Amino acid sequence: MDAPAAPLHSVRTDFAVVGGGLIGRLVAWRLAGTGARVSLYERGDAQGRDAAAWVAAAMLAPLAEAASAEMLITELGAASLEAWPALLSALPSPVFFQRNGTLVVWHPSDRAESTIFTSRLRVNAPASLLKGGLTTLAGAALDQAEPALGGRFQQGYLLPHEGQLDNRQLLSAVADGLVERGVDLHWNTPVDDDALDALPAAFVIDCRGLGAKRAWNGLRGIRGEVARVHAPGIDLQRPVRLLHPRYPLYIAPKENDLYVIGATEIEGEDMSPISVRSSLELLSAAFSIHPGFGEARILELSTQCRPTLPDHRPQVRLADERTMRVNGLYRHGYMLAPEVSAAAVSCALAHAAGEFSAPDGFEQWSAAARWPALFAREVQAARPSERV
Ligand SMILES: Cc1cc2nc3c(=O)[nH]c(=O)nc-3n(C[C@H](O)[C@H](O)[C@H](O)COP(=O)(O)OP(=O)(O)OC[C@H]3O[C@@H](n4cnc5c(N)ncnc54)[C@H](O)[C@@H]3O)c2cc1C
Repeated sequence: MDAPAAPLHSVRTDFAVVGGGLIGRLVAWRLAGTGARVSLYERGDAQGRDAAAWVAAAMLAPLAEAASAEMLITELGAASLEAWPALLSALPSPVFFQRNGTLVVWHPSDRAESTIFTSRLRVNAPASLLKGGLTTLAGAALDQAEPALGGRFQQGYLLPHEGQLDNRQLLSAVADGLVERGVDLHWNTPVDDDALDALPAAFVIDCRGLGAKRAWNGLRGIRGEVARVHAPGIDLQRPVRLLHPRYPLYIAPKENDLYVIGATEIEGEDMSPISVRSSLELLSAAFSIHPGFGEARILELSTQCRPTLPDHRPQVRLADERTMRVNGLYRHGYMLAPEVSAAAVSCALAHAAGEFSAPDGFEQWSAAARWPALFAREVQAARPSERV
């Protein structure tokens, strides 16, 4: 059970992080690891049930995502994939993580989708990811790579270097890490826009995902729907993606015969429960990949919205001299979290060290950073007296 919410104003810290979903939790933990005094305010519980991060499949698949994502995202994803093992090893509790690849399959009538898929990868993925990163499999070779699907598909692509982790284990392990590093924790404590300025900290980092919508012009939600099922005996070795012109699907296996099955991207911030039509389509598509899913037990049918910016990129935004925002992780939060959280922490520390005191200090610092494209300064709305 969570401890009761602490009073909003308790200890004065160097950094107050608001929003303890995926990115806020990691930023707070990393900052605390530098010796800084950090507080974290999260409207939900320590498990992370209010976050998009709670529902996510947590596939770490920069090459497969290149079918719809630009080069910056796939490069950030490739660097993050390499960074996950060291990050996980510094956490106090274990997190399921594997790099056993992604398998991409299609039904014979959807063969055209496979050509579109590879041509997009060639455009959007760096050469380092493509080299040795995609193998075409057919017949017995496909059956051997993923015996659970033996005889069900004629062709597929194996992307052998891609990864995945258990999202809920990660959220819980980082929560343990926050306690270990002495972060001043305020679970079940919502902080609205108007209350950010009053937080007792030298610097505030707003990581509220879609909860920051009023403070971030253009931030929107993209709804996703997933089923979590228990399906003993299927034994998929890695996430499987089904290419389909209308109903692309993924099945991500976790430990203990647990599978996260997802498909949809729906524009809008509707957080209502999944519809009958969506659940029928989702589960039928899974059944078409493996009939064993017919006997699976449905543990959850969940919906959440991915916090998304107009360009579908994440951003670390300096809002004013006391506030920074990190948002826009869209469908790639887990895939990008190591690099984006490291970028946000380095920016916060540079601010604390006075590196932005010159008028263009932030611009100079961010131009020299590892990922300059992640950083921006918030454009302040003109006050009424300044408007013409
Ligand atoms: C269905 C689905 C599948 C996904 N699959 C994948 C995947 O396979 N791979 C991948 O990389 N990514 C995936 N994602 C994306 C990933 O979950 C998000 O990119 C990530 O969670 C965004 O992190 P965040 O911290 O910005 O937002 P969130 O995780 O939503 O966290 C924001 C936090 O802020 C808190 N908050 C909001 N308002 C307030 C307030 N006023 N005061 C205090 N706290 C507040 C919320 O309670 C929440 O905990 C998926 C997402 C969905 C929905």
